[in-house]
Amino acid sequence: MEFIDLKSQYLASRTLIDGRIQAVLDHGQYILGPEVGELEARLAARTGARHCITVSSGTEALVIALMALGIKAGDEVITTPFSFIAAAEAVMLVGATPVFADVEPATGNLDARLVAERITPRTRAILPVSLYGQPADMDALNALAEPYGIAVIEDAAQSFGATYRGRQSCHLSTIGCTSFFPSKPLGCYGDGGALFTDDDVLAQAMREIRVHGQSHRYVHTRVGVGGRMDTLQCAVVLAKLERFDWEIEQRQRAAADYDALLRRQLPVLAVRNDRSSVHAQYTVLVDERARVRGRLSAAGIPTAVHYPVPIHRQAAYAHLASGDAYPVAEGLARRVLSLPMGPFLDSASAQRVAMALLDACRPGADGGQPLSTPMARPAPAATTPSTPVATS
Ligand SMILES: *Cc1c(COP(=O)(O)O)cnc(C)c1O
Repeated sequence: MEFIDLKSQYLASRTLIDGRIQAVLDHGQYILGPEVGELEARLAARTGARHCITVSSGTEALVIALMALGIKAGDEVITTPFSFIAAAEAVMLVGATPVFADVEPATGNLDARLVAERITPRTRAILPVSLYGQPADMDALNALAEPYGIAVIEDAAQSFGATYRGRQSCHLSTIGCTSFFPSKPLGCYGDGGALFTDDDVLAQAMREIRVHGQSHRYVHTRVGVGGRMDTLQCAVVLAKLERFDWEIEQRQRAAADYDALLRRQLPVLAVRNDRSSVHAQYTVLVDERARVRGRLSAAGIPTAVHYPVPIHRQAAYAHLASGDAYPVAEGLARRVLSLPMGPFLDSASAQRVAMALLDACRPGADGGQPLSTPMARPAPAATTPSTPVATS
């Protein structure tokens, strides 16, 4: 069994993918060829956003979004301490300061109530991550940002295709950023990403920043980056889009298979009623994680941990931590365990994984306590007055 089965996906779409790749080899426009514009139009239509700009990765999308907003040294951006490093890293790369707010225990997404306490006169943006495939509470965050006129950037690297109150992830705030890294729900065969916005001025800025701040060839109106997504990768995404809705259904079916066996037995990260998840991950909480993983591995079942160390505990970011202000992130980092997931994980395999997990969590041959306890409550974090965050 594989953690993410990209091979079955390729075999299922092989004719489409090979045909799309061959078309690029035939026309030879490897940079900003016709597939780039075609993909941008398709993704804009799918999300409902006025503009889609493809870029070289999800990380570069975040950097370009911050640059287009003019965020710079001295500015603060409120983000999550419990995610992949890229969001906080992008903030650092433009010279601004990430300010962390703790996450919701039920979803792992940024807790809007705690974001409210972190807003200062220097706050220029809120940067939530739609973790594991489920949109963050975007309307609550938009409502916080609105009176201050600050931007909300959704890191939707894991959630392209998910919905929030009937709207599409990536089209829920000022700017949406996604990634086509191969293992994401919509992946290419290398690096790629995209930016989404309804704002014409930001869209123009992001298009120019993507190509060295060029407005016209060799006319540089601003400082940019080399951040294009190449035509071949756009062609791969175009081919994969044909089956993407089916794949989302299958991911949700696999998640339902897991839910049916696990939800009453173990704490499982929840999907809220007003949104859907594309299940980039299916994540449960276990105690004694190393032991559970070891037992699963012995049963031939691969697992992963997203993410074992919260960002404020990383050496390069530790100076941004404020005391023990992120207890939920810390607790999740200790206990999260992601199970094999993907559109080609059939029900029988999901059931085998679930049964093996329940077995691995039982106090088994090696004795000891049950390996899982109920989920931590958010109460203390929610009512504690905010502690000022060091701004270096
Ligand atoms: C994968 C990921 C990114 C970065 O995307 P790349 O395309 O690998 O640069 C950013 N944020 C989150 C939440 C991710 O999962």
